[in-house]
Amino acid sequence: MIPSGEALKIVLNNVRPLATETVSWHDACGRILAKDVVCDMDMPPFNKSAMDGYACRREDLPGPLHVIETIPAGVTPTQEVAPGECAKIMTGAEVPEGADCVIMVEHTKEEDENYIRFTKTTTDTNICYHGEDVQSGDIVLQRGTRLAPRHIPVLTGTGCVRPEVAVQPKVGIIATGNELVEPECLPGISQIRNTNSGQLRAQVEQIGAAVTYYGIVPDVESELDATLKCAMEANDVVLFSGGVSMGDYDFVPDVMTRNGIDILFDSLAMKPGKPTTFGVGASTYCFGLPGNPVSAFLQCETLVKPFLFALMGHAFQAPWTEKRIAETYTRKKTAREAWIPVTLSKEGIVQPTSYHGSAHIAALTDIFGFMIIPQSIASISKGDKVTVWVL
Ligand code: AMP
Ligand code: MG
Repeated sequence: MIPSGEALKIVLNNVRPLATETVSWHDACGRILAKDVVCDMDMPPFNKSAMDGYACRREDLPGPLHVIETIPAGVTPTQEVAPGECAKIMTGAEVPEGADCVIMVEHTKEEDENYIRFTKTTTDTNICYHGEDVQSGDIVLQRGTRLAPRHIPVLTGTGCVRPEVAVQPKVGIIATGNELVEPECLPGISQIRNTNSGQLRAQVEQIGAAVTYYGIVPDVESELDATLKCAMEANDVVLFSGGVSMGDYDFVPDVMTRNGIDILFDSLAMKPGKPTTFGVGASTYCFGLPGNPVSAFLQCETLVKPFLFALMGHAFQAPWTEKRIAETYTRKKTAREAWIPVTLSKEGIVQPTSYHGSAHIAALTDIFGFMIIPQSIASISKGDKVTVWVL
């Protein structure tokens, strides 16, 4: 058994980064930047008015000021503002030479024709200065950034309309188990619905993987072998669910080995998820995830997703936090690190949920995350701090 942190290190140390491609900025959200984005111009590109008002010289206030022209956004001023003068200006328009502030229209009153007066005693400058946000040549987005909606205006604002991004990892999902039927079917006697495939698909598609689903394969070596061969040809990563434990029909590790996958670990000191298996082939990686749904879910969150991000050149930040626990938690067996689903109170205290073990996926419906009880720790007292993986 290896600790979960060790497993993550092994997985990440074996990453061979994927190729890159360029995409239209229209399709860039969610993708991982493969190159720094460099700004092609100063921002703002000119001294810009932040208000609708009058551009003038602060020393001339409160006026009266002679209005020499009106400057709409997108129009270049034609005159310098001289002593005793101002130009009516709209938000986003270029501030004329000579002016050092813009007084808000709400803080003025019209006097004679083409004359205004400032009605307050002080004003902000209300000018966004040329180049104060970003300068030409600045790196505005770093490679490895996972593009979120807030990054799109940074891309497009700097003229980067075809960013270079990592290609999406191709992930094949194979469900194993004679007892499984697809969710559309009513399970017969001794059967259950295959819930892992849809869950794993949702988990990895959410981070940008392109999934091919290979269906439910019975626990028959020859059929598992044929499906793995097929999936290895077409994918960067193959995810098995089930078939990696100690049962008579758990053939997945053997089938992986037979197909040239070098198994780097097959036992984690983590509950749930002990039989999680990871191996590397010449051009494909393979995860054997335990069939129990909570195990499959957690191992996908904690190992598969960081691995897929790393393939795309993105450093995944594990969502750790620390919280106090509402009640004393004790356990008998301490050989493995335990991951316990918890809810969060309004006061910010975590409470273990009623949880019957790794098949009990419905226990995760409203949880805040999983608290971690480290290896060899039997008890955590009420009020103590625990480390939590936030979902
Ligand atoms: P296994 O890892 O194949 O020994 O399966 C462990 C447990 O998970 C068994 O109770 C299986 O019935 C269940 N299980 C396996 N695969 C799935 C699946 N795709 N969806 C839901 N439960 C599953
Ligand atoms: Mg099975």
